[in-house]
Amino acid sequence: SPWRWGLLPLSPVPLLPERGGRLFFSTSCARCSKNRRLRQKRIISERKLTRYFVDHRKVRVVGGQGGGGGHSFYSEPRKIFGGPDGGNGGDGGHVILKADQQVKSLSSVLPFYQGFQGERGGRKNCYGANGASLYVKVPVGTLVKEDGKVVADLTQHGEEYVAAYGGAGGKGNRFFLSNENRAPTFFTPGEPGQERLLHLELKTTAHAGLVGFPNVGKSSLLRAISRARPAVAAYPFTTLNPHVGIVQYQDYEQVSVADIPGLIKGAHQNRGLGMSFLRHIERCHFLLYVVDLSVPQPWIQLEDLKYELEQYQKGLSERPCVVIGNKIDLAESRIHLPLLKEQIGDRVIALSALKGDNLEELFLHLRELYDTYVKTEQSRGQSPAKW
Ligand code: GDP
Repeated sequence: SPWRWGLLPLSPVPLLPERGGRLFFSTSCARCSKNRRLRQKRIISERKLTRYFVDHRKVRVVGGQGGGGGHSFYSEPRKIFGGPDGGNGGDGGHVILKADQQVKSLSSVLPFYQGFQGERGGRKNCYGANGASLYVKVPVGTLVKEDGKVVADLTQHGEEYVAAYGGAGGKGNRFFLSNENRAPTFFTPGEPGQERLLHLELKTTAHAGLVGFPNVGKSSLLRAISRARPAVAAYPFTTLNPHVGIVQYQDYEQVSVADIPGLIKGAHQNRGLGMSFLRHIERCHFLLYVVDLSVPQPWIQLEDLKYELEQYQKGLSERPCVVIGNKIDLAESRIHLPLLKEQIGDRVIALSALKGDNLEELFLHLRELYDTYVKTEQSRGQSPAKW
């Protein structure tokens, strides 16, 4: 049919009489048919995503070479021996790492960066121009290491770190003019830039981290509460990257939640995906432990999770947290829930990520955790991380 349902466009279009309480417009009009629907974001498969999501990189950075000093003598009619006038060379450009919110992984970082060279000093005492700084955009939460030592931690948007300094420019022959030597012929070349081999490591920054063993429903939960689309399937290691979803509240506050995959028993001893993803938990300000209620004795999962975190880094399991019991829609989960509550003696948010049951309680508690985090950061005089 030539008529389709559509939104009222802003520009005047040939509107047709109302039919069934809704307005129609012609899709044959080029302007209307073009913007009929917002184009949906293409969903990338988990496999492809691993290629895009890179959380460590080795980079060689070399600062720009300084420009050489100039070598010339001034001479004009009636002033043949005007003296030396070779200007100094410009300094080489630095290579600077800059944290950028828009960049989400280290995949765009190349293995080698060379800074811009400084210009050569010219005649008539002209100095060479300095080389421009080369900015390398890295995601917020990038850790810079050299020989295993942390040299920088870029945790704020716009934060910069000079990875390699450019070399100093050389001196022109004018610089060497003195009473002893009225016509110096020597000049110095520019110095080479600093060279360093750096390891960049990304620690995903999010307010909350979903911590749980494979198949407990972390990805399903993140899908239910945000617009993130991690892969969901009934086998372990479906999700291969940390996914970050944003939970939006009516007052425009946004809480970021990260799904940390690959955590299994013995991960701290490098079993499974090992510690490759445990480090992403470090940057989460509060933790959401997800346990599968359909499994007998779900409190053992919780103990194991806390043990793994504690083995990886002392005090990690003591962050503000809440326990989420997933799969409450299953009959056996209803039997295990009171037992879990009794065992841990703490609050358990029982929900079903698949059916969307009781998600409101999680939203409210997540906001409470976020508000306390904001208050503690503000009382410390620091600005809380905003997504
Ligand atoms: P993850 O490995 O922790 O990310 O778990 P997934 O989100 O991939 O889920 C693993 C399996 O559990 C999938 O087959 C889901 O359909 C299933 N699942 C997740 N949440 C629920 C739930 O609330 N109820 C039920 N019955 N199944 C669920």
